Amino acid sequence: MPAPLRLAVRNRRFAVVHEGKVLDVLSLGGPYGEPLEALSNWSETLHWLHSADLEGPGVPLVQAQLDCPVPVPRQVFGIGLNYRRHAEENNRPVPTEPLVFTKFPSCIVGPNEQLQLVEGFCDYEAELVVVIGEGGRDITADEALSRIAGFTVGQDISERERQMRGGTPQFSLAKSHPGFGPVGPFITPLDQLEDPNDLAINCTLNGETMQSSRTSDLIFDVATVIAELSAICRLLPGDLIFTGTPSGVGVARTPPRPLAPGDIIETTIEGLGTLRTECAAALQE
Ligand code: ZN
Repeated sequence: MPAPLRLAVRNRRFAVVHEGKVLDVLSLGGPYGEPLEALSNWSETLHWLHSADLEGPGVPLVQAQLDCPVPVPRQVFGIGLNYRRHAEENNRPVPTEPLVFTKFPSCIVGPNEQLQLVEGFCDYEAELVVVIGEGGRDITADEALSRIAGFTVGQDISERERQMRGGTPQFSLAKSHPGFGPVGPFITPLDQLEDPNDLAINCTLNGETMQSSRTSDLIFDVATVIAELSAICRLLPGDLIFTGTPSGVGVARTPPRPLAPGDIIETTIEGLGTLRTECAAALQE
């Protein structure tokens, strides 16, 4: 395949990332520079992207200079236990319908942010993240992929004590501390991927592989998840869906392995790039 065309946000504006360069969309004559506007008019943006002249000067790609690809998503969905072996390692039955929670949007940050750990047991979860394009309601599985802008890489950082505790598990709160939703570095449109339903996904901690799987192992694939969610919620441009994590999370290891200050979490998904997050100590009260 030719070099992929991807989008990123730099200086708060949409930019095309191509062959090691970052080219500002408006400077290239693109229709929309503001990310939410571009996502709301995704067909037009994609059409323009395919015919854009990318020979302009641009600036060299430095991932550390990229911002969150969707600066302020309005809704962020998470799917729990969506890989069979991850359900098993949690001693939970394999779900018969998607287990849905939210990450409150204030936890979403871009690539290259430092992750401030909190008290308890902080954990990593490598995830394929869907970025909604035009969205809508009552989307069928057949039309689902056409309502997506693309995919990005995410880490569904989770504090397990609150998430799992006794009678009152709190998935949404336990996964929504500030900085607990890093995503990026790019939005890759689905037509830039050979098979968007089968991408290698892995996560390393300080260089050691902790999670390794393929998105074809998802119990509920992306199209099914979109159909289920949109039967209830209207999906809005720029909404994010964290689609679930493979086995190998810290809490299920022997011995358990919580995140610690100085840890480097790197999540890589085939065709989408690598999201790198460095952990910092919890703030002392
Ligand atoms: Zn997750």
